[in-house]
This record gives sequence, C-alpha cells and structure tokens, in this order.
Amino acid sequence: MTSIEMKNIVKRYGDGFPAVNDVSMSIADGEFMILVGPSGCGKSTLLRMVVGLEDITSGDLLIDGKKVNDLAPRDRNLSMVFQNYALYPHLTVYENIAFPLRLTKGAVSEDEIKRRVGEAADVLELNDHLDRKPANLSGGQRQRVAMGRAIVRDADAFLFDEPLSNLDAKLRGQMRTEIARMQRRLGQTTIYVTHDQTEAMTLGDRVTVLKKGIVQQIASPRELYEQPVNLFVAGFIGSPPMNFLPARVEGNVLKLPFCEVSFGEEFAAKIAGKELVIVGLRPEFVKDAAIQEPGPNAIHFDADVDVTEWLGNELYAYIPFEADEAAQHKLDELDRDLDGEGMRTQMVVNLEARSRVKEGQRSSFFFDPMLMHVFDPESGENLT
Ligand code: ATP
Repeated sequence: MTSIEMKNIVKRYGDGFPAVNDVSMSIADGEFMILVGPSGCGKSTLLRMVVGLEDITSGDLLIDGKKVNDLAPRDRNLSMVFQNYALYPHLTVYENIAFPLRLTKGAVSEDEIKRRVGEAADVLELNDHLDRKPANLSGGQRQRVAMGRAIVRDADAFLFDEPLSNLDAKLRGQMRTEIARMQRRLGQTTIYVTHDQTEAMTLGDRVTVLKKGIVQQIASPRELYEQPVNLFVAGFIGSPPMNFLPARVEGNVLKLPFCEVSFGEEFAAKIAGKELVIVGLRPEFVKDAAIQEPGPNAIHFDADVDVTEWLGNELYAYIPFEADEAAQHKLDELDRDLDGEGMRTQMVVNLEARSRVKEGQRSSFFFDPMLMHVFDPESGENLT
C-alpha cells in the first residue's frame, strides 16, 4: 500500500514568486496521477520534492501517512524515470537495469538480480538487447531500459518526469500504451509529469492541471473534458482546443459572432450584471447541416469557411470572426495565458470526413446549446 499526500506544499527559489504555490492532493494506493500544465508551471519541481531532490519550503509531504519532508531520497523507496533517461553509457543494458540492486551492496543476491532483471526485460521486451550499450539502442529502447531500472527495484511508487518527450510521435504513442499496460500490471502508485495532453488524458486515473504553481483542477480525464472549472483548463484540455467566442449579453440573449442563443431565468441569475461573457464550444460539437440531422434545440448558423484540412478520418474547417475591441482584448489576454500561437479570432470545427464543406464557401452549421460553456471573462470561472 502506498498513498502519497501533499498538504499545502510551497516551493520558493530565493525570494521569487513561488514555483509551487499551496498544492494539496491525495494520491491513493495504485492510482495513476498525472501532473500537467504549460512549461514552467511547477510540475517538475513538485515531482522533485516528492522524490526528495528538492527541499519543501513549507507544507507537508506524507507517504503512507508518514511525514517524509526531511527523509533522504534513498530512504523514500520511490523510483524515478527522467526525461533524459540518465543511463550509464559504459554499462550494458543488463547492468544498467541491475544498477539499483547493486547499490544495495550485497543485500540482493546475484541469482535474485538475474531473476529480477530477466523479469523486467520480459515486461519491456528487452531480452534481445541485454548485452548492448545504450549508444547502440534506439530512443524507444533506451526509454525502456530507464523504465526497467525503475521497475526492478520493487519501489513503493513510480515517478515519471516527461519520459516520452524525446521520442518521435509514433514511438511516443507506442510507449504510452506500454507504460499504461505496465502500470496496470504492476498496480504501482504512479505520478507522471507531462505537458502533453494526450498522455494526460489517456494514462491518468486522475489529472492535476497546474498553472503558475497553482492547482486549477484535479479530476478524471472525462470530467476535465466535460466540466472544466475555468478558461485555462478548458483551453488546455482538448485537441484542437475549445473555441472561445466573445458573446454580448443583451436581455436574455447571448449574441455570439455567428448566432444568438437565448437563455432561461436560472442562467440569467448567474450572469447578472455582465455585458460580455466568453462562450466555449468544442470543435467536435459543431456539425455540418448538409450531412447531419439537428436535434430539436439546435442552434443554426451560416458562416464563411476560410481554410479546410482533410485528414482522412475527419475534416477541420476554420471560420474567422470579428471581435470588438473589448472582446479582442480579452481573447488576447487569454491567448497569452494559454501560451497561444496566435489570436483566437477564428473558430475551428471538427467535422465528419464525408463533409463537403469547402474553402471560400458559405456553409450551414448547427450545434446543441446544452454543450456550450459560458465563462466569466474576468475570473475565467465556468458559469455553466
Ligand atoms: P517544464 O515543462 O518546462 O519542465 P515545469 O512545469 O516542470 O516546466 P518547473 O521546472 O517545475 O516547471 O519550474 C517551475 C518554476 O520554477 C519556473 O519558473 C522555473 O524557472 C523555476 N525554477 C525551477 N528550478 C529552479 C531553480 N533551481 N532555481 C530557480 N528557479 C527554478
């Protein structure tokens, strides 16, 4: 049984803004927890504090209910896999995997080492490479050796710091599946740091989204996707990302760039006093009216398609829109917050591959307004 609990953990480097700011979470025995967020949000720092490579400025870290703030890394019995693998170039694959067991200075017998390395090599399909040196391995194989070294130790929990970020996209996909399989098989408590939201969504039992050292939301992948608590989480989870459309509030109507949506009393109370809100609409919730049947409450709109991208199994259509100055200012701010690549004055819709929507043509679309999110433009809070 290995549970990991963080209570109000803070990390300050020097006098600066805290790199990790009042983080609390409980990770259950056997749970796979993902820490995700943009570069510099503090995820590696948090992981390094758990493993003991970094001091905790304030707050408590508990492993199985025992405070371990001051325990040396080697006494925490946690296995960490680093982004750069940290393999020993002069040792063979066998010796690299055996290394943590040799550190025990004879506590593990040679037979036992052979058995455990063999077992790890089986799980990771490294049997044919045990005599090779790291230089003679592919990126994916090196990655597996690093994982072998982590699992051979019988540690209480695994900690991964962006282990797949040096691999190409195809290999990353394969290794992701292998990590999921291995974790399920071994049932070990795992904390996994990534900035890749596909890894976050597919690997984690739960995901912690961090921004500037502060936890934004801790939830299952499905809940993050369906009920993001704020604009940041909404924009971070999902690919292509959620569209953010500025909407003027006039009476009981939201005026979006392409259409109007009326709302009832209950929602009116939530946005009372606001003139501008941000509507979030996922690309996959907008449908091509030429090929799909709308439900009874669907909102229809016509729009000019600027660019299309046909990917074989789906089609993306980009639809520019105009925003007034105040709305534009909000969108720019949001974009900076999300490490955006450009201003968000276009909507992307993710249509079925059979759609005949074309570049430069006006087309008809619809969406179910129940799937819209409405965000407070000031606090970013999800009001729906
Ligand atoms: P990345 O994905 O780029 O690795 P991250 O989310 O893991 O980012 P951290 O590496 O934890 O982020 O860094 C969080 C913040 O702390 C950053 O602002 C970083 O510059 C700062 N930081 C990290 N390590 C140190 C250090 N040793 N001294 C001073 N500041 C540091």
